[in-house]
Amino acid sequence: MLESISPTGSWREERLLSTEITQQDLDFDSTHIWHPYTATVNRPPMYPVIGGEGVRLTLSDGRALIDGMSSWWCTVHGYNHPRLNAALKTQVDQFSHVMFGGLTHKPGITLARQLVAMTPEPLNTVFFADSGSVAVEVAIKMAMQYWQARKQPRKRKMLTVRGGYFGDTSGAMSVCDPENGMHHWFSGILPQHHFVHRPGCRFGESCEDQHLYEARTFLADHHQTIAAVIIEPVVQGAGGMYFYSPDYLVKLRALCDQYGVLLIHDEIATGFGRTGQLFALEHANVIPDIMCVGKALTGGYMTLAATLCSEHVSTTISEQGPFMHGPTFMANPLACAVATASLDILQEGHWRSQVQMIEQMLTEGLMPCASMPTVADVRVLGAIGVVEMKKAVDMQQIQPEFVKRGIWVRPFGKLVYVMPPYIISPDDLNTLCSGIRDVVCRQNV
Ligand SMILES: *Cc1c(COP(=O)(O)O)cnc(C)c1O
Repeated sequence: MLESISPTGSWREERLLSTEITQQDLDFDSTHIWHPYTATVNRPPMYPVIGGEGVRLTLSDGRALIDGMSSWWCTVHGYNHPRLNAALKTQVDQFSHVMFGGLTHKPGITLARQLVAMTPEPLNTVFFADSGSVAVEVAIKMAMQYWQARKQPRKRKMLTVRGGYFGDTSGAMSVCDPENGMHHWFSGILPQHHFVHRPGCRFGESCEDQHLYEARTFLADHHQTIAAVIIEPVVQGAGGMYFYSPDYLVKLRALCDQYGVLLIHDEIATGFGRTGQLFALEHANVIPDIMCVGKALTGGYMTLAATLCSEHVSTTISEQGPFMHGPTFMANPLACAVATASLDILQEGHWRSQVQMIEQMLTEGLMPCASMPTVADVRVLGAIGVVEMKKAVDMQQIQPEFVKRGIWVRPFGKLVYVMPPYIISPDDLNTLCSGIRDVVCRQNV
């Protein structure tokens, strides 16, 4: 009886024995699976990947693509890295997961030690989160609980700059850029926070007091209700790929101190060498009270993020009671083990010269686009290269053009951008840049 009404009781799926991706698989995908920011109807086709090695992704038809995206900032050491593979295999034979409530384990402790050692004092307390968005939620909650513990419960709003991206969960979304973010779909539901203009001083320019006029006036008027300022240091990522002057952060830190407001840095995209410094905060020598890391943390192998805070923040909260967050998969041992291996590779220091080489070659390779009438701006910082077009690119048309040239580049809106794995060779970088020049930097695209 139950059998006939229970879909699980009669669960039978069609699965071919091979791991090959068939047309049926792709048809199933296109009608049954959500991909990031897509509809399930009239969806453009996805490219099936069957392998990865170094900077190359292998498609099911045998083509290899040079990955210009590091799978969204993550795969800094490339795919199928022997040391990362080994770290996972060793851990999987011990245990893959265990709850972190009441229990602890070496992979978590080792990784926390590394994070504390590589971030500046006094960022000495680590909260392991399961994705970047969650790390941001945790940071916001920490700031709110901190002020409750300080008996100033009115301080519960965030202040941020426009053009930011902090993730897709509600709390994170609520501080994303209010226009190009996702606010309008969820208006009335999202927490209301405060925005000032994005930093007007670009990277390489000096930042004057007038650039913080709006933030200063806002904090002067409203600091009694502001828990924290949250910002992506130096590079605004998915909100616009915009690089601003590190001086802005110095002056912002001073404002936060003056008005008794915590400072949260989101280094989820910028962390672990991407901007040419291990963390973007090092461009400014500014230390936040709370800092989020994610993305490249595991070398792109598994989902893991962390929120670090100063001992002052963790102690202040803890003297009043527990911090109220605890994901099921907190400090997943597999993810921690592979993260440790990834940080070990970074610690050997080759990333610095690799990122420098990438910066130089991206500059030479992409700058010629700047003179094209369709291009608004070209900018490069560390291992990040951006060609900003005047109009949004036509993805349906442009994506196959990149693939035809053997490169994986995934623009959004007006932004064609790359952040390749640090291990990319000069030859592959040339192919990447010439592919972009070829496809994007022609007239009439
Ligand atoms: C990607 C990103 C996030 C969100 O991370 P997820 O792992 O996708 O949840 C948050 N902040 C910044 C700056 C990011 O680039």
